[in-house]
Amino acid sequence: MSLDEILARIDQDMPQALDRLFDLLRIPSVSTDPAYKDHCDAAADWLVADLQTLGATAEKRVTPGHPMVVGHIDGPGPHLLFYGHYDVQPIDPIELWDRDPFDPELQDTDAGKVIRARGSSDDKGQLMTFIEACRAWKAEHGTLPCKITFFFEGEEESGSPSLVPFMKENAKELTTDIALICDTGLFESAVPAITTMLRGLLAEDFTITGPARDLHSGMYGGIAMNPIRVLTKALGALHDDTGAVTLDGFYDDVPELPDEVRAQWQGLGFDHETYLGDVGLTGPAGEQDRTPLEQIWSRPTCDVNGIWGGYTGDGFKTVLPSEASAKISFRLVGQQDPDKIRASFRAHLESYMPEGFTVEYRTEKGSAAAQMSIEDPAFEKARKALSDEWPRPAAYVGCGGSIPIAGFFKDLLGVDAMLIGFGKDDDQIHSPNEKYDLESFHKGIRSWARILDALS
Ligand SMILES: [Zn+2]
Repeated sequence: MSLDEILARIDQDMPQALDRLFDLLRIPSVSTDPAYKDHCDAAADWLVADLQTLGATAEKRVTPGHPMVVGHIDGPGPHLLFYGHYDVQPIDPIELWDRDPFDPELQDTDAGKVIRARGSSDDKGQLMTFIEACRAWKAEHGTLPCKITFFFEGEEESGSPSLVPFMKENAKELTTDIALICDTGLFESAVPAITTMLRGLLAEDFTITGPARDLHSGMYGGIAMNPIRVLTKALGALHDDTGAVTLDGFYDDVPELPDEVRAQWQGLGFDHETYLGDVGLTGPAGEQDRTPLEQIWSRPTCDVNGIWGGYTGDGFKTVLPSEASAKISFRLVGQQDPDKIRASFRAHLESYMPEGFTVEYRTEKGSAAAQMSIEDPAFEKARKALSDEWPRPAAYVGCGGSIPIAGFFKDLLGVDAMLIGFGKDDDQIHSPNEKYDLESFHKGIRSWARILDALS
């Protein structure tokens, strides 16, 4: 069998693939607004019917919220799971759209043809790239090269309340050799990317209490310790002059970047001056011995997100407050354990407490980073396949934020996930006039066909 025949079929079948995507885009499956409940249901039904045309056993599965769609197609080779979401963001403010968000249209722009509609990029257009790749395989060869499980969610844009319970209840069915997630973008709109590391998150919210009540600074200033002084001293000591975090054991479980990944990142030519310049900054503030991309993707952080205490109203009040509070957060990487980092932070904070001062914590559970095992040959195969399709070689990239779904596959099912997407920075997802480049859609389908071939 020849991959070329499949790619040729994809090219030839583009008008039909677009018709199908437009059908799905016409369904206003806004998940957060109960008024659209039936439409979310209709989008799930549409996907079930479409998967069935591929010969999949597909079903809509009930949850307390919007349904999941799960489908299976048997095949040789490894067992892959593909995840996407069929729900979309609300369309407000509607007056800023230049057309009906649920009446998709192919438009000519200076930057090429784009598919204009809510959900075109996030995530229906991306989701359909994989389905269309499967359709071309099936049409050309009658079978698929791998065993495939399709898993589509309808609550991604509204916090995914049913996702974890559903994954736990159906763990056996959803556990595969690898998970493919198509809900991200190209690196800086140009380089195909596989996101392999996502930072975890830990937050602390606390109040230091010193004096039993607010005090007059004329009567107590000098003799009484001010909780804001304690707080700022403790927070100010969290970083040293090189930008490193000073907590005991903070870097113990932070892995070094593999040399090949470091080389790929250097090849990306990330322009940190523009990245920072766009927000009015001049130089990076992270660890001085790390590159800007490492600071965002592969290094842990500590940041004060809020700080308050004393009198902050109009005018002036010479008060020594009884309390001082802050919210701080950590982005975690590698094997850093949120509980261990929390304990280290609390020991640091409490070492600054004068006798008689107390700390009260209001905290939530932290989440560890998700780091995929790129030693698994499937990652390198997929990276090569992507590089064959696009003008520039694909890179393993990190993600400074958190994409919970990838962590769920890893933590709940023990499955490594490849996050591969074809969105662009200017797709205006979640905003008026969302679009997906026709090229992203077309090359996205071709990319998945190549990846299926490489993994089979
Ligand atoms: Zn999305």
